[in-house]
Amino acid sequence: MAAELTPMMRQYLAIKREVPAGAIVMFRLGDFYEMFGEDAVIASPILGATLTHRGDQPMCGVPYHALNSYLAKLIRAGKTAALCDQVEDPKTAKGLVRREVTRIVTPGTVTEDGLLDETTNTYAAAVSGLGLALLDLSTGEFIVEQFAAQEKLDEALERYHPAEVIIPDRRDKSVASPVGAETNALGSRDKSVASPVGTDNGGATLLSRQATPIESWTFSVDAALDCLTRHFKVLSLDGFGLTDKTDLISAAGALLYYVGTTLHHSLEHVRKIQLRQSDDVLVLDVGTLRHLQLIPVGDVPKEASLLGVLDVTKTPMGARTMRNWILRPLARAADVNARLDAVQAFVENRGALASLRTLLSGVRDLERLIQKVDAFRANPRDVKALAASLRPIPEINGLLSSTISSLNTYHLSLIAQQGLVDLIDKAICEDPAVMLADGGYIASGYNGELDELRAIAAEGHQWLAEYQTREQQRTGISKLKVKRVPAFGYMIEVPKSFIPQVPADYVRRRTLTTGEQYVTEELKEYERKVVGAQDKAIAIEQTLFRGVLETIAAKTVEIQETALALGALDATLALADRALAAGYVRPTVDDSDVLEIVDGRHPIIEQLPDAEPFVPNSSFLNTTTDQIILITGPNMAGKSTYIRQVATIAVMAQMGSFVPAAAMRLGVLDRVFTRIGAGDDLARGRSTFLVEMQETANILNNATPKSLIVLDEIGRGTSTFDGISIAWSVAEYLHGKASAKAKTLFATHYHELTDLADTFPGIKNYTVKVKDEGGRVVFLRRIVPGIAEKSFGIHVGAMAGLPQEVVGRAEEILKNLEANELDVNRPKVVKKPRKRLSELPGQMTFF
Ligand code: ADP
Ligand code: MG
Repeated sequence: MAAELTPMMRQYLAIKREVPAGAIVMFRLGDFYEMFGEDAVIASPILGATLTHRGDQPMCGVPYHALNSYLAKLIRAGKTAALCDQVEDPKTAKGLVRREVTRIVTPGTVTEDGLLDETTNTYAAAVSGLGLALLDLSTGEFIVEQFAAQEKLDEALERYHPAEVIIPDRRDKSVASPVGAETNALGSRDKSVASPVGTDNGGATLLSRQATPIESWTFSVDAALDCLTRHFKVLSLDGFGLTDKTDLISAAGALLYYVGTTLHHSLEHVRKIQLRQSDDVLVLDVGTLRHLQLIPVGDVPKEASLLGVLDVTKTPMGARTMRNWILRPLARAADVNARLDAVQAFVENRGALASLRTLLSGVRDLERLIQKVDAFRANPRDVKALAASLRPIPEINGLLSSTISSLNTYHLSLIAQQGLVDLIDKAICEDPAVMLADGGYIASGYNGELDELRAIAAEGHQWLAEYQTREQQRTGISKLKVKRVPAFGYMIEVPKSFIPQVPADYVRRRTLTTGEQYVTEELKEYERKVVGAQDKAIAIEQTLFRGVLETIAAKTVEIQETALALGALDATLALADRALAAGYVRPTVDDSDVLEIVDGRHPIIEQLPDAEPFVPNSSFLNTTTDQIILITGPNMAGKSTYIRQVATIAVMAQMGSFVPAAAMRLGVLDRVFTRIGAGDDLARGRSTFLVEMQETANILNNATPKSLIVLDEIGRGTSTFDGISIAWSVAEYLHGKASAKAKTLFATHYHELTDLADTFPGIKNYTVKVKDEGGRVVFLRRIVPGIAEKSFGIHVGAMAGLPQEVVGRAEEILKNLEANELDVNRPKVVKKPRKRLSELPGQMTFF
C-alpha cells in the first residue's frame, strides 16, 4: 500500500501523526468530513455512517453542514475529534489544497451549540499539587483555586464536575507525543490511566474521575509562567494575585497550553484569571449536595432539587449563575447581606421586577455568543441574536436606575453597545442564512458593489424562471424543473414517466431514482455568466461579515462583563420572584453563633405536587446550650425531613435567598456536613458501613464551631450495639471538643441516645409528635421537646398486616427489653470503662 500512496493520503497520514493518539481525524474533502483506516472503523458505528473501502483502506464520511450532530455523537461516546480543514481556497490552490488541524474537540473543550447544556458550565480542568485550574471554553471563564487538603480539592472537583481533567504524566519523562496515549480513554474508566495520579497526588480520590496525563514539562512553573504571561500579555502574574502561587500557575499554564496549543482552540476571549478563595464560600461537602438534593445529581430529577425550586431564571447566564450560587453559597455576612439587599429591593418593587424579567426573556446566551464571535465561529444568526440580547440594555438600565437606586452595581457593567447594535441591524438582513458559503445574510443597502452583483444575479434568476416556463411549453413536460444541484451546477430535472418526451438537445448528466437530470447549451451559458456574479457576491458577503465580527470582537471584554452582570441580575430577579410566589422571608444574617428558624418549611417537599399539607417547625441551635439537637421518633414521623430542612434553609440564606419560614436568624456557617441514611454507594464499590464511617470521620476531622452537621441515623449500617456505641461517642466528641463544637442535628431511632441529654448540657432532646388513635398511628409532623414515648414500630408492623401472634409476641419482648435494658433517664449504657459488647447482658437473647 505504501508504494501507491496518493499525495492526499500522504497529507492525511502526516496530519494523523501530528494529532494526539486516539483522536479521530475528520478530514475535510469537498462537502464531507472523511475518516480513514482505524478511525473509520471506530467511528462508523458511533456515527451511524456506512463503512466503505477505497482500495484496502476503510473509510466513512459525514456531510460537513451537519458536523455538529456528528461531533456530539463522538464526544458523547468519549472520543476526541481532530477537525482537519482546507486552509486555502480550492479554486485558487495550486495542486493539493493545504489542510491543517483547526481544532481538536474533547469532552472538556466542546463549544458547539447543541452539545452543551446551556444551564451548566462545561469545564476542562488541570490539577497540579493542590492547585486547580478550570476553563469554560464556551464562555471564557478561567478560574484557579488553591486547596489546603486533598479532600477539599476532591470536593471541589465534585462540585465543578469538569468534563475533563489533565494532570502531569510523571511516568513519561521524555518528550513524547504531545498528549499521552490515553487521550482516547477520556470518558472511559480506564484504571491504568488514573492510577499513577493517585500516588502523585497523595492517594487522591480524583481518581473516581478519569484524568488525562499530559507531558509533565507543560506543568513546570517556568513553562507555565511563560505560557500565561504571553497569553495575557503581562510581565508577571501579580495583577491576578498569583505571585508565588506555584501550584496555581502550573495548573493554569498547563491548561492554557493544552487547550490552546495542543488542541488548537482559539483563546482570544479568555481575558483574565479569577482567583477563588475557599474562605469566601460556604463549603458543602460532596454528600451534602446529594443528600440535601441541592442540585439534580444521580437519579434526583430537577424538580426535586433546590435548583429546581429556585431556578426561574430567564437566560442561560442566569441559570448558570443560580447553579453556581447554590454550589458556592457565601460565607461572609456582608456579602450575604449585599445579595439579600438586592433581592429585597425587587421584592418591594414588583413592577420593576416584572418588567425586568420580561426584558430578560429576549436575552440569549450572550456569554457564549461573544465567545463564538471572538473565535470567528459565529454565524449570521448568532450575530443577530447578539444584537437582540444587547438591545434591551438601555431599558434595563433605565428601570434599574429610576426604580432601584441602591443597585448601581449591575448597571455599571451593563453596557448597551448601541454602535454595535446599529451596525448589526444595518449589516445583517432579517432572517439571514446560516452557512457563510451560501451567502444571503448581508443586508441590501450595506455595500454598493454587493448590491450591483446581486442585481445581475437577480436578472439571472428572472431569466431562469422564464427559461423553465419556456422549456415546459416547448417539451410539453409540465413537471420539468430547472434547479441548482450542489457540486453539479444547474440542471433540468425530468420525472421518470416523462423521459420519453425529452428533446434531443438535452444532454443527460445524472440518473436519480425519481427521474433524470440534463443540461443544455443555453443553461451552461447562463451558468457561466450568473454564477460568476453570484460567486463574487458571496465572496464579498464573507469579507463584510468578517469585518462585522472583528468590530464586535473588539468589545469582547465589555460584552463578557455585561453577560455576567445580566446573569447575576437574572438570578437575583429569580430569587425575588420565588420569594414572592412561595412566601419566603428575608433571613437576618450576622456573625452570631445562633441558628434560629421560626416555622420553617422544607422548600422542596412543601411544593411537591401531591404531598400532604406541610407542617412548619421551628429550630434553635447555638454552640453552648443548644448545640446538639437529638431527634427521636418512629419511622416515617418526619425526622429526616426536619433535619434536612434546617440545613437546606441555612444554605438558602447564605446564597442570598429569602427562606421558607416565618423568621430566621443565622450566624454565618463555614461548612455544612451531612451524613444521611444508609444509602448504598455500590457504584464506588465500598461497603455502605465503610462509606458511612469515612464520611463520619471526615466530619469529625473537619468540623469547626461555625459548621453545621446533619447526622441521620448514623450507626445504622452495623449491629445495634455497635451503632449505638459509635453514635454515642460521636455525639460526645462533638460536644466535648472545643474545636469541633459544631451545631449538630442528630436524628436517630436509638432511644438509648436520649440519655445523652442528662449528662451533657449542650444536648437537647426533641421528638416528632405522634398520636395513638386506638392502635392506629397518626403522624402529627410536629417537632417538640422531649423523647418519643415508644417507638410505634410494632404498631406499624400491625398496620402492615403482621400476623396477630407475631405482634403479640413482639409486644412481650419489648416489655422485657424496656424493663431490663433501657432504663430511661439513667445513662447506664455508657458507664465507663465501657464493657466489651459481648459482655453486655441480654445481647444474645434479644439481638
Ligand atoms: P423519618 O425520617 O422520621 O422516617 P421522613 O422525614 O422520611 O421520616 O418523613 C416521612 C414522610 O413524612 C415523608 O414522606 C415526608 O414527606 C413527610 N413529612 C415529613 N415531615 C413533614 C412535615 N413537616 N409536613 C408534612 N409532611 C412531612
Ligand atoms: Mg429518616
